[in-house]
Amino acid sequence: MSIKLEPLKCPKCGSVIKAKGRDLVYQCENCGTFVYAPTGEVIVAKILDFELQLPGKKYYMPFLTYYTKAIIYNEEVKGFMAKKGMGGEWITYIPAGGSLPGEEIVRISKMFTANPPRDKNEIDSFRNVPRLPLEIKKEYGEKLAEFIFLSYEVDRPGILQGINYSFEANFEGIVYVPVYYEREYTIALRGYGGD
Ligand SMILES: [Zn+2]
Repeated sequence: MSIKLEPLKCPKCGSVIKAKGRDLVYQCENCGTFVYAPTGEVIVAKILDFELQLPGKKYYMPFLTYYTKAIIYNEEVKGFMAKKGMGGEWITYIPAGGSLPGEEIVRISKMFTANPPRDKNEIDSFRNVPRLPLEIKKEYGEKLAEFIFLSYEVDRPGILQGINYSFEANFEGIVYVPVYYEREYTIALRGYGGD
């Protein structure tokens, strides 16, 4: 008995895809389709154009994005119940490449979630700028989205002693964000600390 390894094929056009090392995303060289490696499913990926000229090397950093919905039924803040029926809907952005430390992931995620890059110019290829491998699985990104949501509640004034909430984060796709790397990553879009 022998085990035959099937080559990875593009779910859209059937071309054989050359898997590149540790990246959790493959892109079909023939039709450009993005494939999530752990499951082989097609995913939506947007590529944003560079807006800033900065020192350092250019890269594209993958961000996992989630349609997020949360309702806080009640919170117990140091002895009293407060805030009934608060919540909302937003897009959570999780930077998921470049081996960022946890606090950087949270900081950048909060910056993008507060100021989503909706009006930015989308382009249809990476234009020879290397993309950083996607390092975070989308299931884990979902947990990070919940962690970040809870961290907002913890950061409010008063000591949070209890919370009753519902939370959902549905994976939407990947946004490739232009960055420069020189000792650390700087976002190459206006309004994210690089200008
Ligand atoms: Zn293809």
